[in-house]
Amino acid sequence: MKIIVAVKRVVDYNVKVRVKVDNTGVDIANVKMSMNPFDEIAVEEAVRLKEAGAASEVIAVSCGVAQCQETLRTALAIGADRAVLVETAEDLQPLAVAKLLNALVEREQAQLIIVGKQAIDDDSNQTGQMLAALAGLPQATFASKLIVRDGMATVSREVDGGSEQLSLKLPAVITTDLRLNEPRYVTLPNIMKAKKKPLETIKPEDLSVDVTPRLKTLKVSEPHTRNAGAKVPDVKALVEKLKTEARVL
Ligand code: AMP
Repeated sequence: MKIIVAVKRVVDYNVKVRVKVDNTGVDIANVKMSMNPFDEIAVEEAVRLKEAGAASEVIAVSCGVAQCQETLRTALAIGADRAVLVETAEDLQPLAVAKLLNALVEREQAQLIIVGKQAIDDDSNQTGQMLAALAGLPQATFASKLIVRDGMATVSREVDGGSEQLSLKLPAVITTDLRLNEPRYVTLPNIMKAKKKPLETIKPEDLSVDVTPRLKTLKVSEPHTRNAGAKVPDVKALVEKLKTEARVL
């Protein structure tokens, strides 16, 4: 069973992002970039499945600029077997990524596709769902536990009322939640080994996919700053403030 894992290069989660002065987007010049945290979990899960003998090969895929190679090398250091970079300078939106992944799923005949539940830069939470729809595959989003056995995937996912269990027939698309696993620490020997693993670079045209953006960002701005909070001595004072200042009573 081949597993495809999608890994996105995003601004590191520790970075406090700033909006560009011309309000066209977020300033990523000279900013630390890393693998999307949910994708690290996806790679870890795929590698664990391979280590447990449930998968034969783990293929990491990233779509974007040439620097995504670094993200792919991290996936290879965690334990992926090979990597594919779909290189483009175009601003990729979830539908375009879903189309690229769909073409690769077809090419590789992958049985399981694991993607993050959302990318922490655009917070779209769309790619996995769109991929499942395009490929006509069953999907389980926000997986917090995954068991693969006898051509079936059993997924636990947290919902408002507790935990829900889904059984899916493979091939299927799974998106990862934070609780699925704790990714391993990448060791130096594995980073060295990863340098020798195969990394193929292709273009969207090679997969016959048009990645032209369909949505236009009109303006990006900082959220309004919140006023400082105030302590009130007792409930009476609180009610008074709610009546006279907040005017919500
Ligand atoms: P999103 O729908 O943008 O929130 O992204 C959800 C997931 O789709 C991410 O966690 C990745 O696994 C995958 N993904 C999104 N964009 C890319 C990309 N450019 N390259 C590889 N994977 C991506």
